[in-house]
Amino acid sequence: MIPWQDHRARLMEAVRALDPVELPLAEARGAVLADDVRTMHPVPLFDNSAMDGFAVRRSDARPGARLRVVGDAPAGAAEDPSFGPGETVRIMTGAPVPSDADAIVPIEKVRIDPAEDGAPENGTTGSDGLPARIEILEEPKPGAHIRRLGEDTPAGEIAVPAGVELTPWHLAAAASAGHGRVRVIRRPRVAVVSTGSELVPAGQELRRGQIPESNSVLLAAALDADAFEVVDVSWFRDEDCEDLAGHVRALAADGLADAVVVSGGASVGAFDVAKHALAPLGVRFEKVAIQPGKPQGFGLVDDRLPVFCLPGNPVAVSVCYELFVRPALRVMSGNDQVLRPTVLRRARVGWTCPKGRAQALPAIMDERTVAPASAGGSGSHLVVSLARAHDLAIVPAAADRVEAGDEVEVMVLS
Ligand code: AMP
Ligand code: MG
Repeated sequence: MIPWQDHRARLMEAVRALDPVELPLAEARGAVLADDVRTMHPVPLFDNSAMDGFAVRRSDARPGARLRVVGDAPAGAAEDPSFGPGETVRIMTGAPVPSDADAIVPIEKVRIDPAEDGAPENGTTGSDGLPARIEILEEPKPGAHIRRLGEDTPAGEIAVPAGVELTPWHLAAAASAGHGRVRVIRRPRVAVVSTGSELVPAGQELRRGQIPESNSVLLAAALDADAFEVVDVSWFRDEDCEDLAGHVRALAADGLADAVVVSGGASVGAFDVAKHALAPLGVRFEKVAIQPGKPQGFGLVDDRLPVFCLPGNPVAVSVCYELFVRPALRVMSGNDQVLRPTVLRRARVGWTCPKGRAQALPAIMDERTVAPASAGGSGSHLVVSLARAHDLAIVPAAADRVEAGDEVEVMVLS
């Protein structure tokens, strides 16, 4: 048996990040950035006003000073309105600060003078509402309310580093840094294969011996939730060994999938179709020291297509997806956050663990404690109990029991 961490390391080393593609920002959320995004220009691009108010020379802007309004600087205007001593220019948030100004006085800190020279009653002149004069109520500090060029980030700096999964905040930063498109790693396209002659599509009538097929439902949803693309879902009976081998060989040949996840038939049973069909194609089957998830296979078919073979038990599939498949696919997607975070919690109750194997137990935790999600223990067939679990308690191979109050490592899945 190999330690589960060694098995995971082998998978992660065997796969490579896929090629980058260029996407418009609007399509890039959730993709992984292939290259650092650098600022094409300083951010902000120019000194601009942080307030709606008046651009002034500080030497003029003593409390009580009356200034003549000689120009207007709305956001987006390209002009650089000049003004002299005793004068001011109205300015709006985001507008470039006129070269003659060294501070902004917010509109709340001035009094609009009553009209003069036949201007309208409210002290404004013309339809743009520009006042004729203002009175300064409070002296501005040097550079008051001016956002300086490059104050956020200078030109040529890393705005978003390669390897991050692009969030709305990253995309806004890339746009502000001057980019309309980004290079991201192509999302891995994954084919899902279920094996077993007892399986019937979920929701259909069952005769004795048959069960609803749930692994492809689980895997397709998990892949989708992780922003991988499900390109094919198929099912093979235990006697269809050659068909399964042919299917995987075709997937490797046509290049339509970047990885295959097979469930069931990975063990030593007489009808373990995955093992019989795929071992000859280069998938290596071994015993991994974890419960659930002991019989597993992995290999590169035709030296290029990663094929993950998981045991058929639904709980084992959920656990093995989290512990092995997801990290490897995240390496393929170029993600620098490959592993889920873990936290420590006290066991709320005691439970038993298998000897000589680590245990990955679907669990429920709160701020301080953790407990198994299933009253029935850690059986890998307890699929409905999965619906109650949020996280995965991971107990090392050396332990054969967890006592109430013991500290337990918990992988946070949500
Ligand atoms: P296997 O690994 O093929 O021996 O399967 C182990 C157990 O998991 C058996 O009880 C199977 O019936 C069950 N099983 C295998 N594949 C699936 C599937 N796709 N959906 C639901 N249960 C499955
Ligand atoms: Mg089977």
